[in-house]
Amino acid sequence: MVRKIVLYPNAILREKTIPVAQINEEMLALVDDMIETMLEKDGIGLAANQVGSRHRIFVLNTTPHDETPSPVVFVNPAILGTDGEMKEEEGCLSFPGLYLHIPRSRIVRVRAKSLYNEDLVYDAQELLARAIQHEIDHLDGVVFIDRAVPEEQTTVQEYFEQRSKEAS
Ligand SMILES: [Zn+2]
Repeated sequence: MVRKIVLYPNAILREKTIPVAQINEEMLALVDDMIETMLEKDGIGLAANQVGSRHRIFVLNTTPHDETPSPVVFVNPAILGTDGEMKEEEGCLSFPGLYLHIPRSRIVRVRAKSLYNEDLVYDAQELLARAIQHEIDHLDGVVFIDRAVPEEQTTVQEYFEQRSKEAS
């Protein structure tokens, strides 16, 4: 089932999510819905709080559009180490139409559980590394505008001015 994406400034996007103690039916249903929602919205990643859940889970799909999607699930993810720097353009399903160049580490090592309770370690770089950092930020209640560089603060301001005009 495709779930509704929570848009900023909904308060749940500011909450730190809670580690999953045990994968149960509810979690499996949530993950199914998150993957379906991410693919439907053409997102690269989606964090549980973006669909209104407080579980520490995110999903990713960095497969190019013309290939069969192979989504990956990260339960209780944590960054173990980082290296290098990059600053590439990012978007976020909770901020439709906003794109910002966000400074990130170029390489990350991340630990997470799979849906089968396996402990996995991923070494990621470039797009995948960027997506992982963006989603773990979400799970910590951090959104990408928090990391906007000074040169793009005006872009953020104009985005919200435009949004409030559209809403009124
Ligand atoms: Zn996002």
